[in-house]
Amino acid sequence: MAQGKIVKVAGSLIVAEGMSSARMFDVVRVSKHRLIGEILELRGDRASIQVYEETSGLGPGEPVESTGAPLSLELGPGLIESIFDGIQRPLVDIREKAGDRITRGIELPSLSREKKWDFVPKAMPGDLVAHGDILGVVQETAVVEHRIMVPKGVEGIVKSIEHGSFSVDQVVAVVEGKDGTAHQLTMMQRWPVRSGRPYQEKLTPQSPMITGQRVIDTLFPIASGGVAAIPGPFGSGKTVVQHQLAKWAQADIIVYVGCGERGNEMTDVLKEFPELHDPQTGETLMKRTVLIANTSDMPVAAREASIYTGITIAEYFRDMGYRVAIMADSTSRWAEALREMSGRLEEMPGEEGYPAYLSSRIAEFYERAGQVICLGKDKRQGAISAIGAVSPPGGDISEPVSQATLRIVKVFWGLSAQLAYRRHFPAIDWLLSYSLYTGNLSDWFTDNVSPEWAKLRQRTLQILQEESELEEIVRLVGMDALGWKDRLTMEVARSIREDYLHQNAFDDIDTYTSLTKQYRMLRLILEYGEKGQMALDAGVNLSDVIELPVRERIGRAKYIPEESLAYFDEIESELAEQTGALINRGGL
Ligand code: ADP
Repeated sequence: MAQGKIVKVAGSLIVAEGMSSARMFDVVRVSKHRLIGEILELRGDRASIQVYEETSGLGPGEPVESTGAPLSLELGPGLIESIFDGIQRPLVDIREKAGDRITRGIELPSLSREKKWDFVPKAMPGDLVAHGDILGVVQETAVVEHRIMVPKGVEGIVKSIEHGSFSVDQVVAVVEGKDGTAHQLTMMQRWPVRSGRPYQEKLTPQSPMITGQRVIDTLFPIASGGVAAIPGPFGSGKTVVQHQLAKWAQADIIVYVGCGERGNEMTDVLKEFPELHDPQTGETLMKRTVLIANTSDMPVAAREASIYTGITIAEYFRDMGYRVAIMADSTSRWAEALREMSGRLEEMPGEEGYPAYLSSRIAEFYERAGQVICLGKDKRQGAISAIGAVSPPGGDISEPVSQATLRIVKVFWGLSAQLAYRRHFPAIDWLLSYSLYTGNLSDWFTDNVSPEWAKLRQRTLQILQEESELEEIVRLVGMDALGWKDRLTMEVARSIREDYLHQNAFDDIDTYTSLTKQYRMLRLILEYGEKGQMALDAGVNLSDVIELPVRERIGRAKYIPEESLAYFDEIESELAEQTGALINRGGL
């Protein structure tokens, strides 16, 4: 193991000599405090080391010891409901042991060694198993069954397997390899955070991750295994969108990585998240959540690692065959950490001081998302959908982090401060946002919702687009310049905005809308538009079309409970009757 000495300290970056036997990305222990660091650069026997803890008081001459292993996570029962920092230190346990601030050099295992888990075997003695096969299961929380998988590098015959209560470091199975090695397997495995976990095959996303949020599912859907970005101007409703996704998106596991700007921002997340109620299970949301938190009083270096820690945990649950949603908030803070570290390494700066490899690092993160066939003979599938928040300074998305992100992600939910100011929530701007998955997903929507789905969606976007053009005309020359048909188009657009896209997260019914209901709601509004235009053609007054009594019911359709969708038939026939009556009168 390499043993060196500090020659220079520059904030969280230190330089040590005598490290020739160490390797890039090895984890090191620095000084007598045994602070955790990682080797970022090796030149001869000089190593540049990023230290994940406060380095004040360190000086030249102090020892640096390589552990000979890269930054790795402990993966096993106990992950769910945990709150970790960027390098997987268990924040709650640390607080219990050492008080509010993380004491330097504290050594606590990421997963508790005391807690016992009931291991139920799924493999039997005599079975041939390999990397990714499921050995057994543990009911980790009321809603998550943790599948214990054969770790990398192990292949052979199960010699013995236990049934009972064990801690994560006790042996639950012995597998004998071809060469006669007896692998003693526990419920925990380790994985280096900077390497993606393997799978059999990556699939093209073909189905949506349904969220129950109308503007998302209908207009800008994300695929299961897809990648999306959401910018977050302050007060634009980003937190509510994230909470809604965490609660309602079709995902078994939620991994939330928070890189807070101000200390209290993260504390809010740490307070709020555990209090969220999970409507799908009746438990708290934490029962299927892993939180990674970087408060601003932690060194930037730990922030840089947090995103890899998060995605590695997400991959681990994906490998069990789960659908995982990972939310990184905000990747801009993460990129700033990268910039700071790069500056200290005196690398050649690129645009706005970010390192030249900014884009490739952002790409590496998002590329670890996707829908895959997992390792293991049962060919189970798992998915990671990744949603990254960007918080560009001043809300200007022409800066490098936003731009690099937009080149990678396939969905952009553009939150607009203006819409939020008008209290239109979710404040996702329909003119700015996009989803590149709609083509891939259209068969799915045709088969599972309605053959009309793509047409309705297209028509909706078109009306909203027309509205913005008409608004421009009205702004320049006034409403009088518009003909009746254009005025009706504006009225239909208003209905789309207010009766459809606007969705109250705090209303018991409105908070979630199934795709069937989304389809019925949208069809109703567009049908009103079509029938209204027909009435105008037949000579009916615009005001009569606008004041049709049925419109009140169209406006209230969002509050119709899922089990009463039959009401939509009623409203549709009412619409047909009332427009029919108008046309008959108008035609006289
Ligand atoms: P941000 O995180 O962007 O600063 P928040 O998510 O906290 O903003 O939203 C600010 C406020 O906007 C919330 O407290 C809430 O009153 C309102 N709001 C946001 N989204 C919705 C929504 N979908 N339905 C109803 N109110 C919302």
